[in-house]
Amino acid sequence: MRQKDRNVHTIGIIFRKTPFKETSLILEVFTQELGKISVIAKGIKREKSKDLGLTEILNELELVLHKTNEWYILKSATLIKSHLFEVDFKKNILMQAAVEIYRQLIIPEEDSKKLYDLLIKYFNYLKQVNINGIAIFWRFLLRVFVILGIELNVTKCVNCKKQKTDFMGYYPQKNGFICKNCYRPVLKNSIIKISDEVTSIFSNIYQIGNILNKIEISKSTINQINRIFLIHLSEHFHKRFHLRSLEMY
Ligand SMILES: [Zn+2]
Repeated sequence: MRQKDRNVHTIGIIFRKTPFKETSLILEVFTQELGKISVIAKGIKREKSKDLGLTEILNELELVLHKTNEWYILKSATLIKSHLFEVDFKKNILMQAAVEIYRQLIIPEEDSKKLYDLLIKYFNYLKQVNINGIAIFWRFLLRVFVILGIELNVTKCVNCKKQKTDFMGYYPQKNGFICKNCYRPVLKNSIIKISDEVTSIFSNIYQIGNILNKIEISKSTINQINRIFLIHLSEHFHKRFHLRSLEMY
């Protein structure tokens, strides 16, 4: 990043765009170095503006920005990659889901680059997947948690600390899972029961890319796992998290 001329050079990906006045747009951009920022693209909606096409959602751009006290103003942009280009409906949703989570997070500047690289890696991996892409989304989320320092261990029991493949449920207060051996009926109201299918996905999650074609993931498993991840985020950040984009998955 150079700042000699008060211009900021960075690489970023467009998360959102909102119309601003007659001819302008406000872009929410997730950048490698600055985290999430708001950028005004002045006059970009004017006829003949060749840059309008650059502002599609999930376009990755090389940006030159002018920093004022309150805003970043777009000076120029060069397209690196259109991540949604020729992406089918389901993958589109899974990409939007990642963005939905990032938009709800407060991203510290020091984690920005790692989370940026992870997002791009996730997009690229997802594009090669033919089926069960949702599992790739879950693996992505687990990696996001590690970067944020809120790791969720999906293979170890929070009580006996052993590697397990027979979990009874998710235990929000302990930020983890409890195995069938450690479960006591008194915990009934403190845990969220999970199915054997959920446990089996978790025990394979870090190799899941190799078995995507061999597994079936039911609607109820999808709902259970998404719910656990949202609760995990809410427990740590003390606010509600949502995944509306996945309602259509
Ligand atoms: Zn246990």
